[in-house]
Amino acid sequence: MLKKDNNENLPIKFSDYSSFQEIIKQRFSEISVMQVFTSILFIEFDDLSRFNDAFGFNIDDKLMLKISEDISLFLNSKDILARVGNHQFVIMQDLSSEESAEILAKRIIYMLSEPCIIDEHMFYIEASIGISLYPLDGNNITELIKTAENTMKYVQKNSKNHIGFSKDNILSLPCDKSIRLMADLPAAIENGEIYFLYQPQYSHTEKCFVGAELLARWEHPKYGDVPPELFISIAEQNGMIGPLTVKALVAASKAFAVFYKKGMNSFSLSLNISPIFLMARSFDETIEFLINQYDLLGKKLNFEITEEIVLKNTDTLLKTLEKLKSFDINIELDDFGTGYTSLQHLAYLPIDTLKIDKSFVYEIDKDVKKRALFKAIVEMSQALNINIIAEGIENSSENNIIKTFDSIIVQGYFYAKPMTLDSLVEKLESSVSEVVSVY
Ligand code: C2E
Ligand code: CA
Ligand code: CA
Repeated sequence: MLKKDNNENLPIKFSDYSSFQEIIKQRFSEISVMQVFTSILFIEFDDLSRFNDAFGFNIDDKLMLKISEDISLFLNSKDILARVGNHQFVIMQDLSSEESAEILAKRIIYMLSEPCIIDEHMFYIEASIGISLYPLDGNNITELIKTAENTMKYVQKNSKNHIGFSKDNILSLPCDKSIRLMADLPAAIENGEIYFLYQPQYSHTEKCFVGAELLARWEHPKYGDVPPELFISIAEQNGMIGPLTVKALVAASKAFAVFYKKGMNSFSLSLNISPIFLMARSFDETIEFLINQYDLLGKKLNFEITEEIVLKNTDTLLKTLEKLKSFDINIELDDFGTGYTSLQHLAYLPIDTLKIDKSFVYEIDKDVKKRALFKAIVEMSQALNINIIAEGIENSSENNIIKTFDSIIVQGYFYAKPMTLDSLVEKLESSVSEVVSVY
């Protein structure tokens, strides 16, 4: 742990979490008595242990130490800087406002745009920072740190910026609410409070709906609709992502049975598969059991995975995806374009479809550069024999542009919002005439 006091930047101790808590609680109680504004910054660096193989096993520690020393130069004597995880820091900034917290966060990000030099080696490092504010975000220090951490996670996943405030973050909830949601989640999965909607996907080539994506919903008796990003993240944290994914497979199995009864055997269903589920140690056996148990073999089942998993797990991922392919499950790369998938990954991983993220579609009719990017992705995919789904088409102007590209499947509010299975079946049954007249 590091504590900056009286302008001395000396690290006191690393990873001594309990004395950090003691110090921060004591300082926070003084602050609450004085009723002054304070901010908490939660910083996570990208996985620095990746450097250890090439530069020595503790190079990440050296980097953390160097960075902490550099950061402490931006702090005042009453501020606290602590290392709270392998690659995580918390800063409590005294007498802080939203503006001063933002300035500090920007200085840290700006500092990281320069290489960090250790033993004559240069390292480029990125970080995400979540910020919570006292008293705005609560009056309990544990809660404020948790809120800043949740915000940091939200920034990592959903934003191209490196900095986020709790107010911009749907995942930052008062601690008691997130604890309650965590406690209620297992029963909600069992009792039907969590269920699935289906958002249809339309093929311009076939002039009909050809598939749907399952999207989880939670109608909580006290809090109402809980955003899926929130409860998925809770499920990932507390071991419930397995049961939730099984629930999705059961829903898909039931839906396929309905489609088959109506002769719609070629209609596909796409499931969002969390990296935690996919990379679990016993995944191979689990998935084999589930496919057999729920009669999914030979059905048109797609698994949507995200770019983050492609980056982190390339070797084991290849084996896992090959296993899925052996069950005829198609692999779709979701939110394509928002992460950093190298083009090489596309060439050697068995990816069937790219789902181009909605940010590329948004206002594509007004933005020539976006159109050029979209075109480049389509051409690249065609060269690699990879299918394309464009997500998030909201209006006819965007649709008119997307329509000009060959063989693209489209999904978005313009075509249909996520709906119940009954509504989907109704839509499919009436879609032939509707499709002809509308599109
Ligand atoms: P996603 O996989 O990217 O899903 C697409 C999201 O975009 C859905 O939000 C959908 O309702 C929304 N969307 C569809 N068309 C449009 C449009 O035209 N415009 C805009 N602005 N949005 C559109 P939703 O249902 O809130 O889901 C959010 C995220 O939660 C999903 O993003 C996915 O990452 C996650 N998620 C949802 N269900 C599951 C699940 O069963 N398992 C897992 N692991 N994740 C899930
Ligand atoms: Ca998806
Ligand atoms: Ca998506």
